[in-house]
Amino acid sequence: MLSAQCTDARVNMVTPKLFELYPNAEAMAALDPSDIEPLIMTCGLFKSKAKNIIAASRLLMERHGGRVPNAMEELIDLPGVGRKTANVVLSVAFATPAIAVDTHVFRVANRLGLTRARTPAQAEKQLMRVIPESDWSNAHHWLIHHGREICHARNPECVRCPLLALCPSAKKFLK
Ligand code: SF4
Repeated sequence: MLSAQCTDARVNMVTPKLFELYPNAEAMAALDPSDIEPLIMTCGLFKSKAKNIIAASRLLMERHGGRVPNAMEELIDLPGVGRKTANVVLSVAFATPAIAVDTHVFRVANRLGLTRARTPAQAEKQLMRVIPESDWSNAHHWLIHHGREICHARNPECVRCPLLALCPSAKKFLK
């Protein structure tokens, strides 16, 4: 919920203090946005993120006894939680095979020809068809890592890419 338009490094700097002060949904549900905003200000979009964190915590208390549910439909009902976040929660917290499509996964999968998707939801469905279920959660990390390290959005480093010979997009970038 904090990661929109924010780096993982920044989120990881913010969360220790946040969770030290408010360690669970019950504590967060009782807050006013002004209690959280100063703590998450450096993450950007902090006003809407503070509102979502509190609203989601209240819903967790009302519907789920303060615990995070392990079903997609229930997760995406929470304010500030979309399919990407829900899939990360399913995959990491509940060890349920899932492919979370972020900007890196979307870009790299399309470039590699694993998908021909116009939206993250389309990419998720197409990736689930071409990747064995046992690799879904790992594939999310592999594609993100490849996007961050080599297949950058602006200047992909095709010349040093181990997938060069397999990639249908390489010609376009090597011109
Ligand atoms: S060859 Fe280029 S475009 Fe294809 S995956 Fe590698 S870096 Fe990305």
